[in-house]
Amino acid sequence: MVDFSLNEEQKMMQQMAHDFARTELRPLADKYYRQGLKIPDEERDQVVRKANALRLIDYHLPSEYGGLGIHDVVTTALIGEELAWGDAGLTVHMAVSGLAMKALASMATDEQKKRWLPRFTNPNNEEKLPTMGAFCLTEPNAGSHVTGLSTVARRNGKGYVLNGTKQFITNGGIADLYVVVAQTNPEAQSSAERAAGLAGFVVERGTNGLRPGSDYLKWGVLASNTTEVVLEDVVVPEENRLGNDEQGGMLGVYATLEGSRVLVAAAALGIARAAFEKALAYAKARVQKKPIIEFQAVGHKLADMETKIQAARGLVWKAAWMATNDVPFLRGEGSQAKVYCSEIAVEACMEAIQIHGGYGFMKEYDVGRWLNDAYVFRIWEGTSEIQKNTIVRFLSQLEASE
Ligand SMILES: Cc1cc2nc3c(=O)[nH]c(=O)nc-3n(C[C@H](O)[C@H](O)[C@H](O)COP(=O)(O)OP(=O)(O)OC[C@H]3O[C@@H](n4cnc5c(N)ncnc54)[C@H](O)[C@@H]3O)c2cc1C
Repeated sequence: MVDFSLNEEQKMMQQMAHDFARTELRPLADKYYRQGLKIPDEERDQVVRKANALRLIDYHLPSEYGGLGIHDVVTTALIGEELAWGDAGLTVHMAVSGLAMKALASMATDEQKKRWLPRFTNPNNEEKLPTMGAFCLTEPNAGSHVTGLSTVARRNGKGYVLNGTKQFITNGGIADLYVVVAQTNPEAQSSAERAAGLAGFVVERGTNGLRPGSDYLKWGVLASNTTEVVLEDVVVPEENRLGNDEQGGMLGVYATLEGSRVLVAAAALGIARAAFEKALAYAKARVQKKPIIEFQAVGHKLADMETKIQAARGLVWKAAWMATNDVPFLRGEGSQAKVYCSEIAVEACMEAIQIHGGYGFMKEYDVGRWLNDAYVFRIWEGTSEIQKNTIVRFLSQLEASE
C-alpha cells in the first residue's frame, strides 16, 4: 500500500523547520542580500545557535551520542526542504557539518564514533554554537574523478603525515573538525588499488600544518564559507584514521555521499518551491490589462513548475523512505532525486524570473538570487552528469521485464 500521509513527528518537525525558515532564515537573507551585502558573522552565528537549540542540527544523530535519534530520512527531507525554502546558503552553512558526521557514521569504528560524534550534538538543548565540521574530498585536479586525488597520507611510525590541497571546501575556513580523504598507497597504479588506498582522517582545527586558503567569492549560497584547505606535513595519530581497510576506502566515500544525497535533493526542492510560490503570487497580483496568470503562456509555466515540483518531491520521499527502510537503491534512486531536484530548481528559478519580468532582474525580488543558489546543486556532491552516470550504471544491471 502506498501512503503519502505524514506521521505526527514528521509534521511537527516540518512545521518547526518551516517556522524557523520563515521567521529567521528568510528575513536575514532578504535584509542583507537585497542590498548586495554579506550577512555579518555574528548575526549568522546567532541563527545557528537558535537552530541548535531547536535541535535542527543534531536531530538525526543517534541518542547514544547525544542526538535526537530521528533515524527517519523522510523527516530529514522535510526539514531540508523547509530550511532551504528560507535560505539555501544558511541551510548549507548549518547542514554541512552533517556531511562530516555522515563520513564519521560511514567510515568510523564504534570507538571512533563515540569519540567524535557527541561533539556535534546538543543534548542539553542549549543555545550554543555547535561544533562545525568539514568534509574534504575535492582537489584542484580531482573533482568528479575521486580516485585521482593526490593528497597523500604516508605512514610515519604510529601515525600518518598528510600533504595536499583540498579545494571548494564548505566550512573550510571555520571548521572545528575536518574529515580529510587521502591516498594511503600513492604508488598504486590501477583504479582498484587507488580506490582501496583511500582513507578518511580526522584532523582537528589547530593541528600544525592545516590551514584554510582564502575564501572563494561565489555567485550563490552566500552564507556558506568555502575555502581551500592546505595540508603541509600534518601529523595525525593512527587513531585518527577512520575505520579499517574493510570499512574505509572508496566505499566509505560513496556511503558518505549517498547518505547525504536525499538531503541535498530536498534542499534544491525547497528553492524550487520558494521560486514557484513567489511567481504564483506575483502572477496573480500583476495586472497587464488582466492578471498575468490569465495569459496562457504564464499559466502554463506555473502549471509546469507545480507538476515538476510534485514529481521531484515524489522522488525525494521515495528515496528517503527506501533509505529509512534499508531498501537498496537498485535504480540509482538517490541520484534520480538529486539530479531531478537540482535541474527543476534551476528551471523554476528561471521561469520565476521570467514571470516577474523586469522586476525579476532586481535584487529586491529575490528570484534571481535563488537561481544562483539553485545552480550549485547541479554541481556539488556529484554533478548532474555524474548522477546520470550512476543511474545508468544501475540500469545496466537490470533485466527487461518479461
Ligand atoms: C560552493 C561549493 C561548495 C563545495 N563544497 C565541497 C565540500 O564541502 N567538500 C568537497 O569535497 N567538495 C566540495 N565541493 C566540490 C564539488 O563537489 C565539486 O565541484 C564537484 O564534485 C565537481 O568537481 P569539479 O568542480 O572538479 O568539476 P569536474 O569534475 O572537473 O567536472 C567538470 C565538468 O565535467 C563533467 N565531467 C567530469 N567527469 C565526468 C564524467 N566521468 N562523465 C561525465 N561528465 C563528467 C562534470 O559533470 C562537469 O560538467 C563544493 C563545490 C562548490 C561549488
